[in-house]
Amino acid sequence: MTVQHEAPSTGAEEALEVWIDQDLCTGDGICVQYAPEVFELDIDGLAYVKSPEDELLQDAGATTPVPLTLLQDVVDSAKECPGDCIHVRRVADRVEVYGPDAE
Ligand code: SF4
Repeated sequence: MTVQHEAPSTGAEEALEVWIDQDLCTGDGICVQYAPEVFELDIDGLAYVKSPEDELLQDAGATTPVPLTLLQDVVDSAKECPGDCIHVRRVADRVEVYGPDAE
């Protein structure tokens, strides 16, 4: 008898996105130092994510894709963020994989 297994997720093709909870942002700019391609401080002193077209995304909970080449920098940002307010989640099911709400 053949047992069918679900294909295991390799994680390699797992698209991730990141968002910032500005209510908790301290404005220290650590994320901007790690990944200036993804994060930017606005004149209000808070950090925001940027679109792939380099546009500042200021809507609450706005997300931007995490380029694979910048994943480590974005993850480090989330780990070091003093406000614990950088959230990295899977696009497919919106489960947080790095950040304060990750398991
Ligand atoms: S590291 Fe966190 S607290 Fe600091 S500016 Fe970035 S989002 Fe805000």
